[in-house]
Amino acid sequence: MCGIVGYIGQRDAAPLILESLRKLEYRVYDSAGIAVLHDSRVSVRRAEGKLNNLAATLERQPMTGTIGIGHTRWATHGRPSENNAHPHSAGDIVVVHNGISEQYLEWKQQLIKRGTHFSSETDSEIVAHLVAEKVARGVDFLVAVQRTLREIHGSYALLFLNRRDPTRMIVAKNSTPIVIGAGDGEMFIASDIPALLDYTRKVAFLEDGEIGEVTVAGFRLFDGKGNPVKRPVKQIT
Ligand code: GLU
Repeated sequence: MCGIVGYIGQRDAAPLILESLRKLEYRVYDSAGIAVLHDSRVSVRRAEGKLNNLAATLERQPMTGTIGIGHTRWATHGRPSENNAHPHSAGDIVVVHNGISEQYLEWKQQLIKRGTHFSSETDSEIVAHLVAEKVARGVDFLVAVQRTLREIHGSYALLFLNRRDPTRMIVAKNSTPIVIGAGDGEMFIASDIPALLDYTRKVAFLEDGEIGEVTVAGFRLFDGKGNPVKRPVKQIT
């Protein structure tokens, strides 16, 4: 159970996400990673150990893009390693996950029977595959996440990118905190307020079972049944 950060706007996403992850370092973690989307390509950098290792990787292999997601991992399924570090990719979908997916072994076996190739030992990767399968069949990105979260159970904060849709990130929460930060033509997502404070004081917390669609212009929230939810943005001091 560790940290998640997301950004969509005009700034260079990778350095901003790295700095925001540093604000979540008080939460114990064993590895970290960032994915950035640019020109229909997703670049992923991951590193075992401290964020300085990820920073060194980013220095050697920089990434550009104004939409991205980041993660610090505290391994629950699969040992701490670069390969098990998030973000995890499947088809067009990239995900970061804090928490646990229950019944992941059953899902993994089913997915393997359907010909899915797994590249990590984590429970989180199944979520990427379940969303990617639907998106590949033409299901809308948001709807694909909504349907997937009716299929799986567990505690989660989840944040998704879609390689073919640079206009939005999808975020979901159940038992693990997630807050959206509203800027001017840019939006932020994080596990906790300290990660946002350098950029905005306007925040909205997701509640359990909710799914959000976040664009440069704002966000829309839905409950588990897909009904729109109103959540006023609060100004924090
Ligand atoms: N269960 C996931 C894993 O082991 C996420 C762990 C976390 O919350 O950081 O990769």
